[in-house]
Amino acid sequence: MTDEDSVNVDEVLKYKMIFVGDQSTGKSCILNRFANNQFDEQYQATIGLDFQSKNVIIKDQDVRILLYDTAGQEKFRSLIPMYIRESQIVLFVYDITRKDSFNSIPKWFSDVLDIKSNEAVFVLIGNKIDLENERKVSFKEGKQFADEKNIIFGEVSAKTGDGFEDLFNNHIFELLYVKFKKDFDRKNLIDVGYDLNVNEDEDNKYKNNINNYAGNNNIKIGIKDEKKIEKKKKKCCKGY
Ligand code: GDP
Ligand code: MG
Repeated sequence: MTDEDSVNVDEVLKYKMIFVGDQSTGKSCILNRFANNQFDEQYQATIGLDFQSKNVIIKDQDVRILLYDTAGQEKFRSLIPMYIRESQIVLFVYDITRKDSFNSIPKWFSDVLDIKSNEAVFVLIGNKIDLENERKVSFKEGKQFADEKNIIFGEVSAKTGDGFEDLFNNHIFELLYVKFKKDFDRKNLIDVGYDLNVNEDEDNKYKNNINNYAGNNNIKIGIKDEKKIEKKKKKCCKGY
């Protein structure tokens, strides 16, 4: 998979997010909280692989997050690698009240690294912080693992929603933008009227434009004013 075909930029930017970790750590509930802002005690245990999507705004761009929930059952595990390979965001979930679920994280982490070669945002999540008095894994332990692996760390409660806004908006989506800035730049160019798929010559011309933009760190093309400038440039022969 190359950078350029990793997302369909013609319509809307799309990124895949997958949840891994031991059973009952709250993966499905985190997905439900993030996608629908709901918590459902009866939320069904995942059978196989569930799929939902959520639209978010990152740096002024509409972005669709495709959410893949995995089941811990051994018989479904063979399905998971394909989805992991195609995901740009991998969430490793443990339950702060269950030490065993935290002890499994290194194994989940190395399993994912074994099959993942492309760039992705990795996130360690300690769930169920509403059960503070049953806590068995300290914040420090979680943070230490994440720091060692150089990945994002956050503690949340899928039940109350605590920790979600900061983790997703300030950390996960910020890093997603940094890692996939090229996609955002391409999309911005499309939004201001460039057609990146006209024909080969045109295509190269536009690609050069993108490279010029990307190559010049002083120019930000994500912000609205720049879009206006681009629009003006395209109308350069009228009214000047
Ligand atoms: P999964 O197997 O990892 O998908 O876990 P589930 O999302 O099915 O959740 C397992 C159990 O933990 C369910 O009974 C949930 O109601 C419960 N649960 C999930 N998140 C939380 C949370 O943040 N706080 C509390 N107290 N319970 C939670
Ligand atoms: Mg589940």
